[in-house]
Amino acid sequence: MISSLPPELNNLLGSPIDDLSDFFEGIDQKKFRAKQLMSWVYDLGIYDFQLMTNFNNSLRDYLEENCTLSFDQPSTLEQSKDGTCKWLIPKDKSQVIETVYIPEENRGTLCISSQIGCLIDCPFCATGHQGFNRNLSTSEIIGQVLVAKQDLKKRFKRDDLVTNVVFMGMGEPLANYTETIKAIKTLNHPNGFNISRRRITVSTSGLVPQLIKLSEQVNVALAVSLHAPNDALRDELVPINRKHPIDELLDACWLYAKKRNLRTVTFEYTMLKGVNDSKSHALELAKLLKNKPAKVNLIPFNSFPGVSYECSTRDKINEFRNILIESGIMTITRKTRGDDIQAACGQLSGLVNNLAKKSLRQKLKRPLN
Ligand code: SAH
Ligand code: SF4
Repeated sequence: MISSLPPELNNLLGSPIDDLSDFFEGIDQKKFRAKQLMSWVYDLGIYDFQLMTNFNNSLRDYLEENCTLSFDQPSTLEQSKDGTCKWLIPKDKSQVIETVYIPEENRGTLCISSQIGCLIDCPFCATGHQGFNRNLSTSEIIGQVLVAKQDLKKRFKRDDLVTNVVFMGMGEPLANYTETIKAIKTLNHPNGFNISRRRITVSTSGLVPQLIKLSEQVNVALAVSLHAPNDALRDELVPINRKHPIDELLDACWLYAKKRNLRTVTFEYTMLKGVNDSKSHALELAKLLKNKPAKVNLIPFNSFPGVSYECSTRDKINEFRNILIESGIMTITRKTRGDDIQAACGQLSGLVNNLAKKSLRQKLKRPLN
């Protein structure tokens, strides 16, 4: 006799309300069950269908047999001396993703991962160095928020510490477009995490077609990893530039800002000593962004094992910032947080079984025509 394999359970965690409504309709239930389910999960932290007392017995049994609301638990929590927390979350037996919480005076920002590794292969980024394994599902993205909230609640007896969520952990969120959009919807929905659109930020290296699509689908804050003011340099630092050069990327940014009525798009610019930090780079950048809905975050480069870049000197960063400010561009230097536990920008490496036979960088070495 051939024994049958256990059926794949449908993980409803993180599903946006529309998908849940369709799911309930599909099993001959009323749409409002979706709101009820979300309320159990996100308001009350109940993941056991049998405890959902406003569902009748047969619905509870059906859900228990066919569905799940599960998320991976962290193996480790590391805490920086500045209060930053980093959770390591195991995946697929031998891999790990990372999630970081950064407490600030008036807010607490959770930095979440969207992929195991990253294909974009920016040479100054620890995630890029690891290669790529796979996309995370919506439940795995939302699971990170639940891990952080549960743990922060346990330790600080507060449920309101995560006020902002940024897709700035491991991976390129727009390369995992569908799951990222679903997660954003659940983060934003009143029956989900109820985090306002302005407090959710997607950071992208510049996947232009997906960025244009994003402008049509959701309304969140946008950060773009620019890192260079011209194509020759950006082709090296952010290899996706070979496919979508700066002009094309900036046009998509201005379109996004216009459609979504954003006051500014944030441009991230990692300061790399002797690479992109000269006066002329600053002037070139100012020319690109002058009189546009733009602000600039200068990120001091954070080092990691095996990388040969260095961080620009403080004087260079100040000089760079002043040139932008003199051109009327709002510019701040991002404070480095959590670097003693390798939790700062670009230091998240996790553990990735690299499946990318050829990185995007190698593929894009060929001239594009
Ligand atoms: N993949 C997305 C989001 C994750 S990275 C993106 O690239 O936008 C979050 C930010 O950290 C990006 O701006 C990224 O370029 C920057 N970063 C990467 N490596 C870094 C490093 N070593 N030091 C400082 N910033 C870094
Ligand atoms: Fe990927 Fe962003 Fe790192 Fe580039 S900076 S390799 S896009 S995670």
